[in-house]
Amino acid sequence: MNSYKIFDVPINSINLGEAISQLGEKRLKIFTPNPEILLESERNPEYKTALLQGDLMLPDGHGLQLVSTLLKIKSKFLRVLCYLPFLLIFLFWKKPFKKIFPEIIHGADFMLVLVSWAELNNKSVFFLGAFGNSAEKTSDYFKNVHSNLKIAGFSNIDPSEKAFELVKSSNADVLFVAYGAPKQEIFVSKYFDKLDNLSIAMCVGGSFDFFSGNIKRAPNFIRNIGLEWLWRLFLNPIKRSKRIFNALVVFPLTAIFSSR
Ligand code: UDP
Repeated sequence: MNSYKIFDVPINSINLGEAISQLGEKRLKIFTPNPEILLESERNPEYKTALLQGDLMLPDGHGLQLVSTLLKIKSKFLRVLCYLPFLLIFLFWKKPFKKIFPEIIHGADFMLVLVSWAELNNKSVFFLGAFGNSAEKTSDYFKNVHSNLKIAGFSNIDPSEKAFELVKSSNADVLFVAYGAPKQEIFVSKYFDKLDNLSIAMCVGGSFDFFSGNIKRAPNFIRNIGLEWLWRLFLNPIKRSKRIFNALVVFPLTAIFSSR
């Protein structure tokens, strides 16, 4: 599987079909590196070590396409000169930026695929993390949509030894972890090898909040035209504007100056 490194973290340059073809092949820790995750990994060595344990690294966030294209330019000086023109083109026309990452695979979308795969392959699933009742409501949601899905359990317990024991005693085959970064990847990297019943653990960030209905995801037509970010910005302007700034300004500039 091809991958491309940003801040020394290898991210798979694959499309959705290729990602799906990995399921069931071997035990997998699935992470979804996005600009914020990669920036956090530069600041936090413990987190970088955890992130490097990922087996399937799905490119989640269009900022990766912008940065991978900028980093193709050898000279740092030229990269700086190209940053603004590239950014302006990128905002309106993504096609020239898809050479390294042909497709952006959002965690919530891949979670849907993985739940269907689990149902089809008779694998049980466990929903771990997120505040409030999101894990429970996510479990209810998938039970309704996938009548043959085996639910091994759900819990909003904090990441801890107790959480590990709970998952272990459930004998789940597939684990979804929604503690947000960096907690979720650190939890999975620490306990995956000891959870020998698991075939797959996937970190899914805020996905439970969508599937539980606690936060509304953008309607399909908005997602299809690539404007989900605008929808999220509208729902949570402070958190989201910070993320967009990080993805389109802090992330590219850090990558330009720190790339070796
Ligand atoms: N979360 C949690 N424990 C924490 C911090 C966050 O369970 O200590 C959950 C939170 O309830 C939410 C998710 O993590 O469901 C948010 O993750 P993140 O902001 O990384 O999601 P993204 O917006 O990137 O998908």
